[in-house]
Amino acid sequence: MPSSLRIAIVGGGIGGLTAALALRARGLEVAVFEQAEALREIGAGVSIHPNAARLLRRIGLEDQLQRIGSPISGIALRTSHGEPITTPAGPATPAFSKDDQGYNVHRASFLNLIFDALPKGMVTLGHRCIQLSEQADRVHLSFANGASAEADVVIGADGIRSVVQREIGLQSCPTSERIMAYRGLIPAERLPWASNLKDPALWLGSGRSFLLYPVARGRLINMVAFVPTDTDSDESWSAPGDLKALAAEYAGWDQPVQDTINSLEETFRWGIYDRAPLPYWSTGRIALMGDAAHPMVPHIGQGAGQSIEDGFTLAVLLERCPSDKVADRLRLYEAIRLERTSKVQALARAAGKLYRSEHDDPSEKAARLREWMAQGVWIFAHDAERAAVDALAEFGRRG
Ligand SMILES: Cc1cc2nc3c(=O)[nH]c(=O)nc-3n(C[C@H](O)[C@H](O)[C@H](O)COP(=O)(O)OP(=O)(O)OC[C@H]3O[C@@H](n4cnc5c(N)ncnc54)[C@H](O)[C@@H]3O)c2cc1C
Repeated sequence: MPSSLRIAIVGGGIGGLTAALALRARGLEVAVFEQAEALREIGAGVSIHPNAARLLRRIGLEDQLQRIGSPISGIALRTSHGEPITTPAGPATPAFSKDDQGYNVHRASFLNLIFDALPKGMVTLGHRCIQLSEQADRVHLSFANGASAEADVVIGADGIRSVVQREIGLQSCPTSERIMAYRGLIPAERLPWASNLKDPALWLGSGRSFLLYPVARGRLINMVAFVPTDTDSDESWSAPGDLKALAAEYAGWDQPVQDTINSLEETFRWGIYDRAPLPYWSTGRIALMGDAAHPMVPHIGQGAGQSIEDGFTLAVLLERCPSDKVADRLRLYEAIRLERTSKVQALARAAGKLYRSEHDDPSEKAARLREWMAQGVWIFAHDAERAAVDALAEFGRRG
């Protein structure tokens, strides 16, 4: 019998909207409440690696992803002076399979793609959730504009400053990584050499790294430049940065690095903060997902991917779930996902330390990178839907 559960998602970012798609694909009734008055995204890239892309393909988004995405088949590593970094054991990263493609995408195009795939009226804008009140058989949601709603399940997809997290008695404490990132997007025609840039390119220097990757099928180049800082920068994705300060950070680096910086019209400063895994993600009928549940440092590009896995996991577990079993299913969700995302958070943290380590010997850095990339295969190979189906079957067997 199809489930009659009404599911409210707080937050219409990448996590919330893909969860809505996944839940709806399994016949659940979904309403998304987003605080912004209009769906806006900053101009920046985001990675959708194979672990997330395969889930999106399965619900019919293959063509759309191909239309907006730049396929990822590996990563090219260079020293700050431009010499390719390799290891005696071969390239520093594994080759990605063409049959199981991941993509780098422009955030706004990706968000529009998901939004357009949802039925009209499923997302209600201008609704900032301020309070939740959980009863035995439902949850009441209150919004800053005076509106209210009720649902059988509430999913908190409201990002790093999550109100839902607070409402279930949690508080996550950010600690600064003592680095910040300058970000920017450059039209590819301004960088003649960029027509050859198919895969991400990462320059590694002492204490700094510089990442470029194409998005929008190569029409734009996304830049993320990590530098040390001893001031606590805003954890913001839109705070303006200083182009001269950025150029000074990379003085003397490889020419494409300097050309990229010189071609920017604007840059943004992003303070990088880490958070320890939360002790729990759900209470009764309320659960967290995405950055509200497991914010992570950006060094392996899994923030969006893990939030997409969360949504598809929830969809499997809530499909045909009777109302009185919701709490059990959300606990199962937490058990499956908390372990995996904590491991991904740890790997992202370790990768960041490696990128900014002071090793002068690039091949040593590459060897270590190869080591963790080999470990990282478990991230890309994971099938979140299959894992949820297996966990549910096991849960059923145990009664
Ligand atoms: C602009 C931006 C740039 C990013 N860049 C990178 C990057 O370069 N690399 C990387 O690894 N990760 C990046 N991230 C993080 C990555 O996108 C996320 O890890 C991933 O997309 C999962 O996000 P989410 O949907 O859980 O949360 P978010 O993307 O933060 O979305 C949360 C949504 O909830 C809404 N919201 C918040 N509070 C409320 C409320 N009380 N009521 C209703 N709605 C609410 C917000 O307006 C927002 O739309 C970025 C995130 C953002 C927002």
